[in-house]
Amino acid sequence: MTGTPEPWQWGEATWRRHVGRVRAGRRLAPPWPDGARVAVALSFDSDHETIPLRDGETRPGLLAQGEYGARVGAPRILAALARHGVPATFFMPAVSALLHPQEARGYVEAGHEIAAHGWIHERNMLLSPADERALASRALDTLQEVTGVRPVGVRTPSWDFSDATLGIVAELGLRYDSSLMADDDCYELLADGQPTGIVELPVEWIRDDAPYFMMSRYSTLRPYTPPREVLRLWRDEFDAARADGGLFQLTMHPHIIGHRSRMVVLTELLDHMASFDDVWFATHARIAEHVGADLAAPARDA
Ligand code: ZN
Repeated sequence: MTGTPEPWQWGEATWRRHVGRVRAGRRLAPPWPDGARVAVALSFDSDHETIPLRDGETRPGLLAQGEYGARVGAPRILAALARHGVPATFFMPAVSALLHPQEARGYVEAGHEIAAHGWIHERNMLLSPADERALASRALDTLQEVTGVRPVGVRTPSWDFSDATLGIVAELGLRYDSSLMADDDCYELLADGQPTGIVELPVEWIRDDAPYFMMSRYSTLRPYTPPREVLRLWRDEFDAARADGGLFQLTMHPHIIGHRSRMVVLTELLDHMASFDDVWFATHARIAEHVGADLAAPARDA
């Protein structure tokens, strides 16, 4: 046999090793504080201009779409959250925080969490482990310099999770990740079968605004979901999470959800969720701290 074996030629040890590299361990769904039936973790990825920039796209037209997120989307989102006194987590690429330092500081001043989201929204799968580590470390330092707060959690840009990512998250001493999809509820991440002490707050494309509203300018295929259909879908997700006594985690983007007709989704969803008195609204960090309270501290890489 010559060359790299095809997947259908792999021995059992090979496919077991790939599957076991990053795996879901214990489900972490303890009782929520104060008798709440459901925990709500709202998140906004404040990517702004970094999506085109990371692809080397420097056209002003594309950058303006990102600028909208900072100029219009983020203030609208902050106002909607303030109306209900609800905390959220803002995952912000470091370059975005450097372009919009007032916004980054504003999140913290309003009582929200700021968390890591890469340097320039880089694609981890395309990087060497050394480059991925250097950018992740620089991103944490930068967010701390801009806001005065060191992030305790990360969402990898585009949810790109390489073979090296979990080791880097551990090495950097982060408490949680929010990029993977192995459960509806929080779980402890296993690395090669070993508990890491790192909490996963799982995401899903179903609970993300991007796939419903994004389109490619030059593609003839332009799927578009009416915003009120997305509201119905997310309300169903929340209602079911509440019935299960679980977690309702949502990912949005200021440059996507921040448009007028789409803010209807967020505001009406907030109204719906706040109409119950058994909902625990918390940042990702607070939820990770709560569910991970009895986990061993994250093991640092030697
Ligand atoms: Zn992003």
